[in-house]
Amino acid sequence: MNALPRLSRVAVCGGTHGNELSGVYLVRELLKVKKKKKKEEEDEDGGAMSVLLVLSNPRAMQQCLRYIDTDLNRCFTHACLIGPTLDKTPYEMRRARELNAMLGPKGSAGAMDLICDLHNTTANMGLSLITYSDHDWICMHIFRHLQAQHLLLKNVFFYIYIIENISMEVGPQPHGVVRSNIYTTMKSGVQYMLDWVHFFNSGVIFDGGFMDVFTVVKHIDYPRDGETHNITAAIHPQLQDRDFCLLRPGDPLFQTFSGETLRYTGSEPLYPFFINESAYYEKGILFLGSQTNACVCSHTYLGAQLSVHCRSTKAQSYIC
Ligand SMILES: [Zn+2]
Repeated sequence: MNALPRLSRVAVCGGTHGNELSGVYLVRELLKVKKKKKKEEEDEDGGAMSVLLVLSNPRAMQQCLRYIDTDLNRCFTHACLIGPTLDKTPYEMRRARELNAMLGPKGSAGAMDLICDLHNTTANMGLSLITYSDHDWICMHIFRHLQAQHLLLKNVFFYIYIIENISMEVGPQPHGVVRSNIYTTMKSGVQYMLDWVHFFNSGVIFDGGFMDVFTVVKHIDYPRDGETHNITAAIHPQLQDRDFCLLRPGDPLFQTFSGETLRYTGSEPLYPFFINESAYYEKGILFLGSQTNACVCSHTYLGAQLSVHCRSTKAQSYIC
């Protein structure tokens, strides 16, 4: 059972990748709505939660590019955040430091209580929530709440050092394009997440239970020409768009440009996702392979006796 502190400060960020347009337009829309109000969104019990809306990478958004110099989403490592700022420091690295000061600093008492970063993917992933620990009870309960709304939802764990608590990935949507159904799905996801925070802050008790999650176990790359390093095949039609569907050893994986079928030769079955994500071509990733496991989500409620800021560093600190 977990008694957790109030979530007073929530940030919703769009445009971390400047060509992922649902998050860009959603944050702009939410900013418009907020401007119409005289003060920040308030909880029914007297202004218990503020929502900070952030457009993370304005220069990349202006040019409708994923990034200007380097991937902003890879700039929140400790080394990047504390390094000296020089004239040649990449734009996104400087921007990461600004965001860290605005939303954190990471691990500090003044840090946001919850940060949700909005992304689009060209993969057929529906609405997927990505988090970085299976002991982050707040994120786990938000996942369960969204699942209860019957949104097409998958939960995924990564273990990387990043500023936000939750990434919301919605697709398929080509980068540089906004599709109304994808935008609406993201808007619903954000609204349900904020609803959950309101419920939690109002004292609602959330029962524990099991939930299914996908944990990343490997990256799979395309077959490549030994000399040119160019890819020599595309994803097989039987695999394309089948994110989170079981891929067994021997199943078709690629169709070479000469028409041959190449099969999955791994020994373990996988649940692939981010299949044919266009931004991953440069990273040498065809898809991320995951396995499912049942995760125990603990009984959770608001415990006013706890320090508001204890939820800032490692997920284990939530376990009471
Ligand atoms: Zn993204």
